[in-house]
Amino acid sequence: MKITVWNEYVHEKNEESIRAIYPEGIHSCIAKFLTEAGYDVKTATLDMPEAGLTDEVLAETDVLFWWGHVAHGSVPDSVVDKVYNRVMEGMGLIVLHSGHASKIFSKLMGTPSDRLKWRESNDKEILWVIDQSHPIAQGIDEKFILEHEETYGEHFAIPQPDELVFVSWFSGGEVFRSGCTFKRGRGKIFYFRPGHESCPTYHDPNVQKVLKNAVEWAYTPPAKAYKYGWVAPTVKND
Ligand code: ZN
Repeated sequence: MKITVWNEYVHEKNEESIRAIYPEGIHSCIAKFLTEAGYDVKTATLDMPEAGLTDEVLAETDVLFWWGHVAHGSVPDSVVDKVYNRVMEGMGLIVLHSGHASKIFSKLMGTPSDRLKWRESNDKEILWVIDQSHPIAQGIDEKFILEHEETYGEHFAIPQPDELVFVSWFSGGEVFRSGCTFKRGRGKIFYFRPGHESCPTYHDPNVQKVLKNAVEWAYTPPAKAYKYGWVAPTVKND
């Protein structure tokens, strides 16, 4: 299984306080714990040619991570279309935190998925496991806590998820569907809410466990492309 971790990589370059948490970028932090778990991991960032997602890179990617926030509009539509087509073919996609507002996630959802409530007030977040039998929740207790995170609140303008794995409670009172699965074409999509850039969330062992589980869940073995269009009769009637 080949993994690519994509990050817009803007905050970490421009803000000292963010760089202190992720010195080599959020993508490198995620790639590091996945590599240590034995996976074949590459990273790609917006400042690379074709945003780092060339045909060659995408053809070699079984599961793609997506972290974006301030630069969604700078991702070329041609790249979004290529990622979309790879998801249809069976590439897994794990959309993180503010990636909810990315072009690719909204295109796959078919809804204005950028719409939700938010507040940067370092609230405590409790992530409750809704489906303890789900592969993505294996090894996680009935809940885990992130002492400080950005708050997201419902309503979140996504379609009804295929499966709801986590719901978050925030100390300010909001709740949010934090772990949602979707299937589009042959591709499996997992949206996972935590991961605000000014919080050390991707260093958290429970978050890392969820993302490792999500990689396994999102992987679909390669298969022949579907055939579409005109076709001769399958059964010959004399
Ligand atoms: Zn955020």
